[in-house]
Amino acid sequence: MDVSFILDDLNDKQRDAVAAPLQNTLILAGAGSGKTRVLVHRIAWLMHAYELSPYSLLAVTFTNKAAKEMQARIEQLVGVPPQGMWVGTFHGLAHRLLRAHWRDAGLKENFQIMDSDDQLRLIKRLMKAFNIDDTRWPPKQVCWFINAQKDEGRRAAHVVDSHDPFTRGMKELYFHYEEACEQGGLLDFGELLLRAHELLLGNPSLLRHYQERFAHVLVDEFQDTNSIQYAWLRILVGNQGSITAVGDDDQSIYGWRGAKIENIHNFSKHFPDVNTIRLEQNYRSTGHILKAANGLISNNDDRLGKELWTDSGEGEPISLYAGFNEQDEARFIIDIIKKWRDKGSNLSDMAVLYRSNAQSRVVEECLVREQVPYRIYGGHRFYDRLEIKNALAYARLAIDPNDDGAIERVINVPPRGIGERSIGTLRELARDQGYSLWKAAQVVAQQGLLPARATNAIRSFLELIEGMSSCIQQPELGLGDVFEQIIQEAGLIPFHEKEKGEKGEARVENLKELVSAASGFSWSSDDEEFSSPLMAFLDKAVLDAGEAQADEYQDSIQLMTLHAAKGLEFPLVFLTGVEENLFPSKMSFEEPGRLEEERRLCYVGITRAMEKLYITYAESRRLYGSESFNSPSRFISEIPTGCIEEVRLRSQVSRPVSMQRPTVNRPTSSVLSSMQKPVIDISMGDRVNHPVFGEGLVINSEGQGPQTRVQVNFDDEGTKWLVLAFAKLEVL
Ligand code: ATP
Ligand code: MG
Repeated sequence: MDVSFILDDLNDKQRDAVAAPLQNTLILAGAGSGKTRVLVHRIAWLMHAYELSPYSLLAVTFTNKAAKEMQARIEQLVGVPPQGMWVGTFHGLAHRLLRAHWRDAGLKENFQIMDSDDQLRLIKRLMKAFNIDDTRWPPKQVCWFINAQKDEGRRAAHVVDSHDPFTRGMKELYFHYEEACEQGGLLDFGELLLRAHELLLGNPSLLRHYQERFAHVLVDEFQDTNSIQYAWLRILVGNQGSITAVGDDDQSIYGWRGAKIENIHNFSKHFPDVNTIRLEQNYRSTGHILKAANGLISNNDDRLGKELWTDSGEGEPISLYAGFNEQDEARFIIDIIKKWRDKGSNLSDMAVLYRSNAQSRVVEECLVREQVPYRIYGGHRFYDRLEIKNALAYARLAIDPNDDGAIERVINVPPRGIGERSIGTLRELARDQGYSLWKAAQVVAQQGLLPARATNAIRSFLELIEGMSSCIQQPELGLGDVFEQIIQEAGLIPFHEKEKGEKGEARVENLKELVSAASGFSWSSDDEEFSSPLMAFLDKAVLDAGEAQADEYQDSIQLMTLHAAKGLEFPLVFLTGVEENLFPSKMSFEEPGRLEEERRLCYVGITRAMEKLYITYAESRRLYGSESFNSPSRFISEIPTGCIEEVRLRSQVSRPVSMQRPTVNRPTSSVLSSMQKPVIDISMGDRVNHPVFGEGLVINSEGQGPQTRVQVNFDDEGTKWLVLAFAKLEVL
């Protein structure tokens, strides 16, 4: 068979990499030099030139989006889908192993995956149950601690004993957490990797099977693998197989989540006879953009060192815009977007990038006003929405009523007369007797341990779930019908219809969307390790990182954090909020190495741009409830002069008085600081409860007196602006 077509459209070095011998290979190259392209072509080469079956290949990438793209690109290149090949994210593949070998992994057959939200809830619940002070051990920090241990491959028992009471407390909580997960059959994301590693380590015959099966393993974005992922790769490759890793040390941006740049440095030590290949020609960006990226990153020490070049011409210089404030910055961005659109560009060719999620709001508001469609990556995704999570929790209970997290979530949603006090009794009984909440509810119902009304309410909840359990066992019902019945029996639609205004309508629409998502869910024979389509669907809902937004096919502006932009490219890119304290972030000044990581993040941002890059900052910015006056980021001054130009629009517009820069830094730390009497006494940082949106944290405020609006970051609903006079907020 003529395989030369696989090497067409590649330069010499890329060809060397694609057709490199079947041995351990490390491809180190800068952004846009074709690493991902080489990886895809190498897979095709292995299948056609070396005649390896797709069955014997495993490819790991960083996001679900990248995995899907990789599969599509292989198919495009070779004309048929790579049947039997394993392509996915680390989490996705680990999950696949665990579903296939749940028994060997010491799991329950119907184990559930928890997302970070569920995880935090569980931790809060445990802290309450064990009476642990959540001011000394803030639940988020506990969560972070546990994840960090798992990223390093450590179980609670492996955490080094410490004299420090804080660490001791953390370790103890980790033990409780492990126990609760074990009992409830719950796995967090970190556990997927850790457990999959332990599964292989503890089962020599299974390990041998997979080592023999996978002749070659391929990894994209290798610079961002953490210890447990690296260990997983090593054990899977073993002594017989080999690995191709592609990466760029200058794009390592997940150090804060345990990723280890050292994995690149140690690669040659851990894998024998490594063939290292470097690529330096960039095919993505213009000369000015590349020069800016090269100049910036040369300020970092300890680099493996590479210089990118392009023969595609210099292009336009980068434009730098200084907004008066964040509103002005957003307006400028929308103006440019509209100009490009009017000239015929697709909206999906344009991306707005920012350092942290909270920055997107102002740009979003502007886009909504101007009716420009946009898509937000990593924002509040479909399966994260409250009404969807409730419906999914019912489905989880139908599979396994002993799922405490799901019970806590929906036992009184919609309200059915099971109040906090009854739930408290259930929790107590569960804790004292080692029962699940379900078992506790059964006991309470049988023995009538609560007043008659509450007992009856619990009884009908038990019946409701039992009804759902039998519903999912009817083989003639499709997945869409199952969800339709669950939603109907739970009474979720009338519950949300009662909510006033658009919010309730949107929730009802989302629930309907869930039914159609379930009906359209295809369960391929490849998924045979799942015990049922419902189970596969529930797992997908947790693992799918927001790629299933409703407007997927509408041409729209792409909004995302810099972290989410990794590996992607767009003709027009806005790098926004490029200010000291924001980017680099304030936190990065405290820890050694973090500033360099921020610089790499900036390098990632710059190198996403193909044709034109705008860098913007605001002279004053309201964020997280205070107004700050940051200077332009040091990263701007690190870009060589000559490839960046300041845009001067200000001479054309006179600066409104309200936008003039005050002489003092004036944090508006409290709604109370307004001259008029506020409606209720709420301060930034307060925790509040809203009758519909639940609990949240006040992070910002605007306006005065009865017009005061506050921004609340709700635990389940993300951030929202509310008019204080109408919002019925209760300070907790
Ligand atoms: P990143 O570090 O950002 O992940 P990368 O090194 O993976 O980048 P790719 O995304 O593979 O780079 O390639 C960047 C762009 O250059 C893509 O649009 C790709 O199609 C194009 N490209 C790569 N090599 C060639 C080539 N030899 N001829 C034409 N276009 C190429
Ligand atoms: Mg890439």
